[in-house]
Amino acid sequence: MIAAVRGTRDILPGAVERWRHVEAVARRICERYGYVELRTPIIEREELFAKGTGESTDIVQKEMYAFTDKGGERVTLRPEATPGIVRAFVEHALEQSLPVPKLYTLGPMFRYERPQKGRYRQFHQLNVEVFGVTDPSLDAEVVEMACSFVRALGIGRTELLINSVGCPACRPAFSEALLKALGDDLPKLCGDCQRRATANPLRIFDCKVPADQPIIDALPHPVEFLCDACGEHFDAVQRYLRAYGQPFQVSHRLVRGLDYYTRTTFEVLASNLGAQNALLGGGRYDGLVKKLGGPDRAGIGFAAGLERLVLALPEAVSAPVPDVFVAAIGDEAREAAFVLARLLRAEGLRTLVDYEARSAKAQFKRANRTGARHVVIVGGDELARGEVTVKTMATGEQHAVLRAKVVEVLRSAS
Ligand code: AMP
Repeated sequence: MIAAVRGTRDILPGAVERWRHVEAVARRICERYGYVELRTPIIEREELFAKGTGESTDIVQKEMYAFTDKGGERVTLRPEATPGIVRAFVEHALEQSLPVPKLYTLGPMFRYERPQKGRYRQFHQLNVEVFGVTDPSLDAEVVEMACSFVRALGIGRTELLINSVGCPACRPAFSEALLKALGDDLPKLCGDCQRRATANPLRIFDCKVPADQPIIDALPHPVEFLCDACGEHFDAVQRYLRAYGQPFQVSHRLVRGLDYYTRTTFEVLASNLGAQNALLGGGRYDGLVKKLGGPDRAGIGFAAGLERLVLALPEAVSAPVPDVFVAAIGDEAREAAFVLARLLRAEGLRTLVDYEARSAKAQFKRANRTGARHVVIVGGDELARGEVTVKTMATGEQHAVLRAKVVEVLRSAS
């Protein structure tokens, strides 16, 4: 047997309904807030992420499924959606065709991470991005929408964390302060942190190595170094969230694992998911569109992990049951049964049939297992009279019905 690739999963019937539910709620919420759908390729040029996500991130350093294609081009499976969406926004000049560029996309991402519960190598995200708006009211709206989405799924006991990582004007002072505060402790940190200290000191907050944590916890916080404009922006975001009645906590270590964030960052955590408890995360990325060759436009968005939302979902979501099971009694009825099934399907009824000319008893047993609401029995004398028998499984009642009336009867009964 050839097994699935490590870190990838089949989403089987029985589980897929939960996925469809999450996706349907995602679309409904996005559309309610004025977002339109965009779909970008799964494969992109490697440099898009080196430039976009950032050279110093774990994603680019360690986790990309990058390779040289047969034409000699360096490409990669996308590890995240934002750079691809920004590319499409620029490539198609979407700000000219969309009055408010509010975009969402659903699809798979790929990262070569160590698989565990809630963390996979192929995983799926809802991505939401807005371009061209700098006002903090949008930050708060995006954060509030993310929380509404999680609530609409019935996922309780969550926590919203927010932070501000400043902008290119105040970041250098903060980086300098970080290095100064680290001082002699820097060599005690892990190898990754040593690299981060040179490439992008802010990334030190991503470190998960237990021994490093006491040192990192004692470091200064980004909010202490915000310039006036960033400070006002962060205050305003918090004011709007309070006005919405949306509880939050400021988390000083929330810098997120991507290089492009400016000002607002946020995450929603679920309390019932164990170690991989981040349901979604995002923030503002005001320099990214320009960095990727576009006009100087602000950006903000978030990505929600569908695997984790599906795991955290409270209620069972089941597959739709068939409306009808068509049972043919006797060989001569088989053709009529298939023709009737075709008609029922054309009328929009979920219809199953028996293919193997089994006994009436075996067909009823099968019908029962499928959970079909009705069995339509085709055969015998009734067939000659242009009638079929409709049995309602919940009550066990059955009636002879004119074949021409069967759709009407089934509709009124369901
Ligand atoms: P990120 O794109 O890293 O900002 O992550 C956004 C969200 O995607 C996280 O909060 C998770 O819910 C989800 N996510 C990220 N990486 C994985 C993964 N390897 N497996 C499953 N979900 C993931």
